[in-house]
Amino acid sequence: MRTASQSPATGTGGEPGFRGVISVSFGAADASADHDADGVSRQDLRFASANPEALANLRSVLAHSRVGVRLVLAGPPADVHAAASAVAVCGLVDEEITILCDEVGPRVIFCGHCHTSTTTDHAIGTDVVCQGCATTLTFTDHFSRRVGGYLGFSAHAEEAA
Ligand SMILES: [Zn+2]
Repeated sequence: MRTASQSPATGTGGEPGFRGVISVSFGAADASADHDADGVSRQDLRFASANPEALANLRSVLAHSRVGVRLVLAGPPADVHAAASAVAVCGLVDEEITILCDEVGPRVIFCGHCHTSTTTDHAIGTDVVCQGCATTLTFTDHFSRRVGGYLGFSAHAEEAA
């Protein structure tokens, strides 16, 4: 898969725009509760879910932000991960993104075999049946921002080999 490459603006120190912490909350989450950034300007965004409109809105905010902005994403895993994936094109690196996932809620499992995304509310460490190839997948807490989900792999790969 080919992604549009967009080099992040390099800091010349003179760009206008917001610099600080951008807190993004989905659903009932409250990213602004993460208060370890005293003295830093904050911008709070709140969306019902990570729908295309919300993601476009978020990208627009980031496009007007300066280099060095920090992003905090809070909410159900599926929403948070959709957002994390969407902002990847904005040039933010992992160190600039803090993910505060709800413990429960739907997660997206990306099948390593057929590349189908399966949404599940199963907990980490349990098995999920891939909607694409019906492989029984297991997944860890390794979230891949590149695919916008958790990487799933065959739960019985060793036995099948
Ligand atoms: Zn699959």
